[in-house]
Amino acid sequence: MKSPCIGACKSSGNMCVGCQRTTKEIAEWQRYTDAQRDQIMAEIKGEASSHNCPVCQSSAQCDIQNGKQTCWCFDIEKRNTSTIEKSGLCMCRKCLSSLPIQ
Ligand SMILES: [Zn+2]
Repeated sequence: MKSPCIGACKSSGNMCVGCQRTTKEIAEWQRYTDAQRDQIMAEIKGEASSHNCPVCQSSAQCDIQNGKQTCWCFDIEKRNTSTIEKSGLCMCRKCLSSLPIQ
């Protein structure tokens, strides 16, 4: 089974700092279809994106913008974004997970 895990697993606020999957995605990884796994891996690698991260300008993915009811960022602990200028756009997984947990 394909996996983005790089063997640097460390959970921080419900997100793995190694592969940037949420703990929910890791827990359900085996139950996902190949297409679902490919989609998440493409999002993590920046190959699938809805917009650019307002902080680092790299590819970021907001599931809400893609018409879904939930977003991966709902599954992690809320981060303190007070130091970030409000833009209304979601940050990429890397930037959001690097912020302190609120
Ligand atoms: Zn970013």
